Amino acid sequence: MKITNIETIVVRIPRSAAAGSSGFGGKAWATIDTLLVRVDTDEGITGWGEAFGYNIIPATRVTIDEVIAPLVIGRDASQIEPMMAELHHKLHIFGRSGPAIFGLGGIDIALWDIAGKRAGMPVHQLLGGTAHKDLPAYASLMPYGDPKRVADVVGRTLEEGYEYVKLHETTTPATRAARDAAPDVKLMLDTNCPWTLREASRMAIELEECNLFWLEEPIWPPENYAGLAHLRTISGIPLAAGENATTVMQFEQMFEAGAVDVAQPSPTKVGGITELRKVATLAAAHNVTVVPHTPYFGPGFLAGLNVSSTLARETPIEWLYTGMTTTLYGDAIEPKNGRVTVPTGPGLGIDPDPKVIAEFRDKA
Ligand SMILES: [Mg+2]
Repeated sequence: MKITNIETIVVRIPRSAAAGSSGFGGKAWATIDTLLVRVDTDEGITGWGEAFGYNIIPATRVTIDEVIAPLVIGRDASQIEPMMAELHHKLHIFGRSGPAIFGLGGIDIALWDIAGKRAGMPVHQLLGGTAHKDLPAYASLMPYGDPKRVADVVGRTLEEGYEYVKLHETTTPATRAARDAAPDVKLMLDTNCPWTLREASRMAIELEECNLFWLEEPIWPPENYAGLAHLRTISGIPLAAGENATTVMQFEQMFEAGAVDVAQPSPTKVGGITELRKVATLAAAHNVTVVPHTPYFGPGFLAGLNVSSTLARETPIEWLYTGMTTTLYGDAIEPKNGRVTVPTGPGLGIDPDPKVIAEFRDKA
């Protein structure tokens, strides 16, 4: 089964006006942007992947189109593991994180989709079996800053049935407002690496009363695993990190340091499903919980959902609560009463809707 073509497609889906235009990486997000990777084969099977993503899409896209695709077209689509091992080695001099690894991950996800479709079974079945037919979603809120606004949005998530809510905030008042609005919810706080170890230690004490389910990326820089490990010894709050780690090797260093309670490999950043599975195996050996980072609405989300559904312990799946007006899959992946159904179609479980792609694809 030969790979005959690789196409990158950027889809920009508007957010609802009421959602505002908050974003990450110094950019306001009026749309949620997805970099799709379409892989065609000579058997007529098409796979869909997603490569990271958002503000860095232009760089990842050109890396796939001009650097990776020429190395992949003509290869056997069923040889996922050996092909990925070879390409990781071939491209390592161009960065062990960033567009090269993101691009490989996008192709890897598409190849798993093809493997499932060829076998006539969902990827979660191919990966060893389906432990969960559905999973709780955690509402992953956009950053707001204002405690009142945070409390309002948290209140809305409760009405919609969420039992897990994650904030992207950095202050105690905003976190306390969320806790007061939702005394019984499992509340997580994602700070995106703002603090020194000393500042994080002080904040962990302040935040103790908020009874957090986990505290995510409290220390700068994200790869300061020794700092996270130290914070874990002085705070009772479980620590989560990993969305900025790429390849299984960085997770090995993270786990060896004793840095985290919850590891968050990101399907579109870490190197796809192949690398994500290796991280999950390694995490099992260290007794670390895996909750993939999935603020995506394309195959990247489905990749994380497929892997999560195979893990024995039920874990929540991240759903970016960002006011999407539609998704590539209609409402099939949207949480209902706080839970996401794991799709059971062959491959990743469901294909992106060609009508949605046609309507929102970036024509540039
Ligand atoms: Mg995060």
